[in-house]
Formats: sequence, C-alpha cells, structure tokens
Amino acid sequence: MFSLWNERARLVSIRNLSERYGARGYKVYSGIPLVREVYRVFKPERVAIAFSGGADSLATVLMVLEGLPDSVEKHVIFNNTTNEFPENIRYVREMFDFFEENFENVKCVEVKPRKHFADYVRRVYYVSAKMKINGGWKKQKLRCCFNLKEKPSEEYYKENNIKIVFTGLRAGESIFRYRFTVFALTRGFAGVYIGKNKINAMPVWNWSREQVHKYLEKHPLKPKVNPLYEKGFRQIGCMLCPVKFFFDKELPPLREHYPHVYKVGLRLKREAIGKIFLEESVKL
Ligand code: SF4
Repeated sequence: MFSLWNERARLVSIRNLSERYGARGYKVYSGIPLVREVYRVFKPERVAIAFSGGADSLATVLMVLEGLPDSVEKHVIFNNTTNEFPENIRYVREMFDFFEENFENVKCVEVKPRKHFADYVRRVYYVSAKMKINGGWKKQKLRCCFNLKEKPSEEYYKENNIKIVFTGLRAGESIFRYRFTVFALTRGFAGVYIGKNKINAMPVWNWSREQVHKYLEKHPLKPKVNPLYEKGFRQIGCMLCPVKFFFDKELPPLREHYPHVYKVGLRLKREAIGKIFLEESVKL
C-alpha cells in the first residue's frame, strides 16, 4: 500500500497536518527559521549535525551553520558505516574542509563502528532472505543500522555532552520517516522530536526532494553536490546494503558503475536464499 503512496501524496498529507497543527496553536517551522527557533527555545552551547553525504543532509548542515550564532559549537558528524562508496568518503572529506573554511566554530568528525560491516554481512543477508521469504519485513531486525550507524553517533553525542542533533530527515522519503515526523508533531513542535535524552531537529522535514536541490543550486556558496547523484543514484546509502538487493532499489546505477559490488550482492543474496531452502528441506 505504501509503495503506491508517492512522495507527492505524502507531501500533501504533511502539508495538511502542518496546517491542522498550526491552526491548533502548535509551532510549525522549517528551514533556517526552524534552526533559529530551536536555538531560541533551547539555547544550546553545542549541537551536532548528521552529515551522510546526501543532499538533504548537506542542506541541513548549511542551514544550521548559517542559522546558529558563532558562539555555538557545531559538530558535523559523518558516520562511516564501513560499507560506504569510496566516492562518498572522498566527497564528505572534501565537504568537511568546505564547512570549516566557510563557517566559524565548526568541528567535523568521522565516527566509525567498533566492528566492520564484513563482520555482519552474511548474517544480515540471511536475516533479510528469511524475512523476505516468510514475510514480516522489519529493517530493525537486521541490527546492522543500529550497530554501524546509530551506536557510534550516539556514543559520540554522549561523550561530548550533545543534546541537540540536527538531521536531514524528510517525511516524504519513506513511510517510517513520515511516521516519525508525525510523532514529532504530536509532541507539539513540528519538525522537532523531543526525546528523553536528546532532541532531534529536522529543518527539511516537510520539504520535497526538488525544494532541497533548488535550495542547494541557489545557495551563494555554491556547495558541491555528491557526484553519486550524477551516476543515477537517488539516495546515498550503504554500498552493499541487503535492502537494495531484496527490494530492487538503486540496482541499475550499481550494476552500471560498480559491477563487482553488484555481483557480490547478488551472490550473497543467492547464498542466503539457498541456505534457507536447505534448512526448510531438512525439516521436511
Ligand atoms: S543501511 Fe543497510 S547496510 Fe547500512 S547499516 Fe543499515 S541495514 Fe546495514
């Protein structure tokens, strides 16, 4: 059902929600006004901005660096999952220099998980195949995102006493992200999720992909956009993510530009499916 629910439909429903909640007296902000409102309300000494190398997070980093006063420490965090495209790593490092050269009080940091993706790869393909065959797909069950993405960043925030994190999450991107922003709304501040230990602020929560790209094109500093978009990728994510292979996502550009990675992914998928059929046949 949700695959039929395209980005336009999501945005219409997000707009309705923003209007409804706005009419009820909730605060509904986005873009730099949201960044300034977060500062006005919470007065943080330091914040983190998650930077994945994608356009949404690039727009978010620029909005936060522009919207907050120089006195606020700004930690731009790239979470290297160890399953990254080499171009993405090069691009992120280049952008780190760009952020530090153009803005004040910026610290760019690459965080890494304790274990490598290679330590999880066979298990995550196996779990993916099992869920795909038996139903009940849940990405959290892979645990890979938690161990490779969330945990290293969370540890960094904790060690550095960071309570506010800006992310480039857009509700139009997926049903999970949409639900998260709706949940944020129910807590009274659109685009800002006030959690127990941390506040998650999302300046582009109700923006479309096109709005984000237009914002970057018109930006006076002319920031470089990730070259992976020119290769046909719509999202900058993990190179060998099982979700790509089990749900046929972003495979044409992968096959064209990274044929060796594509072949490895297909082999892992076949191997995992074969293992499950073998287990099932033993049971019979
Ligand atoms: S995006 Fe895919 S490969 Fe990357 S951490 Fe999450 S589940 Fe694992």
